[in-house]
Amino acid sequence: MQDYQAPADLLKDRIIMVTGAGSGIGRTAAKTYAAHGATVILVGRTVAKLEAVYDEIESAGHPKPAIVPLNLEGAAVKEYEELAMTIEDNFDRLDGLLHNAAILGNRSPVELYDPEIWSKVMHVNATAPFLLSRAMIPLLRKSDDASVIFTSSGVGRKAKAYWGAYAVSKFALEGLSQLLSEELDDDRHNVRVNSLNPGATRTNMRATAYPAENPQKNPTPEELMPVYLYLMGRDSQAINGQQIDAQPKQK
Ligand code: NDP
Repeated sequence: MQDYQAPADLLKDRIIMVTGAGSGIGRTAAKTYAAHGATVILVGRTVAKLEAVYDEIESAGHPKPAIVPLNLEGAAVKEYEELAMTIEDNFDRLDGLLHNAAILGNRSPVELYDPEIWSKVMHVNATAPFLLSRAMIPLLRKSDDASVIFTSSGVGRKAKAYWGAYAVSKFALEGLSQLLSEELDDDRHNVRVNSLNPGATRTNMRATAYPAENPQKNPTPEELMPVYLYLMGRDSQAINGQQIDAQPKQK
């Protein structure tokens, strides 16, 4: 899967939503999906960053994306439902949903963890993906081949001391991914749901979590894209309810 070579038209005519599309892995995924033919719905909280991604996609001659400013920290249930209505009006369906946006919160022992930061991290990283999934399910069901990807983390599969709410929120996402992979696996088998751990990747989040680390030792988001493409495209139709790693496991 890490060596997957995507056909240039893999995502032609597909409508794909990416959260946290303004920077880091989400930005690269959005551009990569567009370069393979998708119309990408760019979701994020900083409009200027989304506009920069929009401009890059448009000037490369890829399908014109859509921008959706949405702050996952404070968005009300109604905003998710309105977003679903807007997508239905404009595109009629959704073929892919990459839940990518997340925040790190504090690195501290549970005993000292700030409860407000805990709630914020749990909301952005786990409750918001639930709210977004809930609103998008009817649109995903309208696709003949839809893929939902939850972005997990190594600490969401095996907890590590001091990762606090970030780790717990990723465990929650793994649970949500498993629930949905069963609930949406009906006779049509048209919606598959998997979790994806990108592994250590050269982004701002990684630099914040590991300030003393040499960023060059980690792959760039671009290097992960074979797996992101594979899971979003038709070649992964049979993969459902799995925990995937974008990088080979380190020994
Ligand atoms: P970045 O911090 O670089 O990007 C995170 C993105 O999420 C940004 O676009 C950010 O928007 C967006 N975001 C954060 N809070 C909100 C919010 N309240 N509402 C809307 N959007 C929001 O992180 P990465 O690219 O490194 O991480 C991407 C995913 O990969 C995350 O789920 C992360 O947990 C996971 N991951 C990353 C690893 C790594 O080594 N990088 C390792 C394992 C997992 P803005 O730019 O406006 O702040």
